[in-house]
Amino acid sequence: MKVTTPFSRTTIRTRIMWTIVLVASVALATSGAAVWVLDLRSTHADIDDRLVLTRQELRRLADTGVDPVSGTALSDPVQVLQTYMGHSVLASGEGQLGIVDGAVRLVSAAGIDMRPEADAELVERLLTMAEAGLSTIKTVDTAAGRYRVLVVPVTDGTTTATLVRAVDLDAAEAVLWRTMRMYAAAAAVTMIMVAALAWLGIGRLLRPIWELRNATESIDERDLTTRVRVRSHDDLSALAAAVNRMLDRVQRAVEAQRELLDDVGHELRTPITVVRGHLELVDPEDPEDVRQTSDLALDELDRMSTLIDDLLDLARSSQSDFVTPEPTDVEALTLQVFDKASALGDRDWQLGGCATGMTMLDPARITQAWLQLAANAVKYSDDGTRVVIGSETYGAELFLWVEDDGIGIGPEDLERIRLRFARTAEATHHASGAGLGLSIVESIVAAHDGRLAISSEVGRGSVFTLRIPLRTADETWPAQQKEPDKR
Ligand code: ADP
Repeated sequence: MKVTTPFSRTTIRTRIMWTIVLVASVALATSGAAVWVLDLRSTHADIDDRLVLTRQELRRLADTGVDPVSGTALSDPVQVLQTYMGHSVLASGEGQLGIVDGAVRLVSAAGIDMRPEADAELVERLLTMAEAGLSTIKTVDTAAGRYRVLVVPVTDGTTTATLVRAVDLDAAEAVLWRTMRMYAAAAAVTMIMVAALAWLGIGRLLRPIWELRNATESIDERDLTTRVRVRSHDDLSALAAAVNRMLDRVQRAVEAQRELLDDVGHELRTPITVVRGHLELVDPEDPEDVRQTSDLALDELDRMSTLIDDLLDLARSSQSDFVTPEPTDVEALTLQVFDKASALGDRDWQLGGCATGMTMLDPARITQAWLQLAANAVKYSDDGTRVVIGSETYGAELFLWVEDDGIGIGPEDLERIRLRFARTAEATHHASGAGLGLSIVESIVAAHDGRLAISSEVGRGSVFTLRIPLRTADETWPAQQKEPDKR
């Protein structure tokens, strides 16, 4: 059972658009996340750099023991802390305090927003850290917020004063969050634009496919003339051109079929009319009349039977298994055909040449075509005249020919006689026939990628040549060379 999902019912345009939107969203989200991570890291690194600098400055002040502004000597760690806190400039989100003897003794001047002493939980943690007497930089989480804190003890052996510098991480990251919100808004607008442009662009790209669909839907057996408009030189236009070529072939095949049916109807009606006419007039009491009519009917039926065989051959010629090529010895084939042809009539049969070597062809079909040419040579020439059969390889081609000294064909008929049921007036006087023989020969050579060459002169004779490309079993077609003069 075929499962249809809502997605499978959507058009290819929608699908491609959503795919583009998805890919673009993933790209934007990935770059947003990368920016966020890098910015966060650099913000944290900046905070730590500032805290390390603070520690260095405080230690330097403690080591020199002199107020750099007033030049007065600093007698104990509390004074060092006081002086340092008094001179230091705090960035936004930064606060500080001083711990002496396990209690907060010094705080920032009024006007500084960030006040670590306001968060009791933070103060408690800071007191514990100060008690440890070690210089530390660490992150402290409390119920009121997240802080990056620096704890630096300054001691003279008896008194220890500890500087605490705290940075409000939530405030520092708030800037980042604002940037990311703006990025998200810009990304959303970009996505809407991408979707709109993709929708329009895909529509333009897919227009040949819609035209192809409309064209193919409007084509049926009665009207095969519609073609798809080929606009440019891209892949879809190549597809449209390929469909047009396919339609050309289908149209030709359907028209050929129709013509064949018309011709067949016409050709089969004639013998039926003839037989019917004679049967209606036959005198059953007159044995001679009955015998003559039955002879005539049998003759017409034979003709019909041959006609049907020929028509079936022609119909089969469009099937892929019409010829089955196999490696064939050309010399043996020539001698066989010559042998068989010699029995076709009382003529001066001559072997005009015999090619050697192997080539890929269907020996049965080529024999059929070659014998058809030999039979025509007999049909359109007089008893005892010369008929030459021969083969020859020239360059990349194999030539198989039949030459006669018969009635010949005028230049105006040379092309026409290749058509189905086409006959020359001269031939009609000379012998009966349906005019299908050469069509079958043409189908056979065409199936071998070859062609039928005809040269003829009225009253002097004709040469019919099957020209077939020489092929090895691994299907390499040699390049064409200049053809010989005569055939
Ligand atoms: P058919 O022989 O039944 O008429 P073909 O298709 O074999 O049908 O030949 C078509 C026409 O080509 C013939 O009617 C004849 O006019 C011409 N033709 C074919 N072979 C020869 C030939 N060897 N000499 C002269 N005319 C020929």
